[in-house]
Amino acid sequence: MPTIQKPLLIACDFDGTITRNDTLVRILDQYGSPSWRKIQDKVVDGSVSIREGLQSEMNSVKASPEQLIKVLTEQIDLDPSFQPFFRRMRAQGIPVVVLTGGFDLCVETVMTRAGLWPVPYLANRLFLNKGTWQVEFPYPSISCSDCGHCKGDPIRTWTEQGYTTVFAGNGVTDRCGALAAQLTFAKDELKTWCAGNGVTAVSFQSFDDIHQELENRQWL
Ligand SMILES: [Mg+2]
Ligand SMILES: [Zn+2]
Repeated sequence: MPTIQKPLLIACDFDGTITRNDTLVRILDQYGSPSWRKIQDKVVDGSVSIREGLQSEMNSVKASPEQLIKVLTEQIDLDPSFQPFFRRMRAQGIPVVVLTGGFDLCVETVMTRAGLWPVPYLANRLFLNKGTWQVEFPYPSISCSDCGHCKGDPIRTWTEQGYTTVFAGNGVTDRCGALAAQLTFAKDELKTWCAGNGVTAVSFQSFDDIHQELENRQWL
């Protein structure tokens, strides 16, 4: 009897996974308070929540929207393996959804420049209020108070809807996603965290590795 495989859904982190460099790091290095890395260290060690850390980091940013868009346009590169992977998945009807712990402005600006807009995505909202950058978290989690935008919730929802869920990520905001997905690809900080916490993940460096693994599993 032929096996009927459930449809695949690829959920993918943005900064450092789809992009080679991190949009938040670029923005904060250029326009944030010099002490932002101290806040980030506390986020990584868990003494400050992701949500609180992101809010206070962005509150310190002194830049106009035009200045932020210039940074995003001129200083952020996509991983060269992403675009061919994305197009292949699209051609096979496999959804690729961007899940970012960063901002809508970053995903829209970078993907538009790459000629990949529109893409489905979930992000935190960045906006100016009386000259101060504010972060709004439109996807609060019922199960997780730490993440601003918890990647675990949407992935569990897609699994319940019948998808085979694949997730790729690299950082601290990807931990809940790594726990929720049926197959996780990890690099950088996420890979270390998965290894230290007994979370099964396949190591990857580029989207070619992900494509190869999916082919090896005969999921494509
Ligand atoms: Mg990342
Ligand atoms: Zn979470």
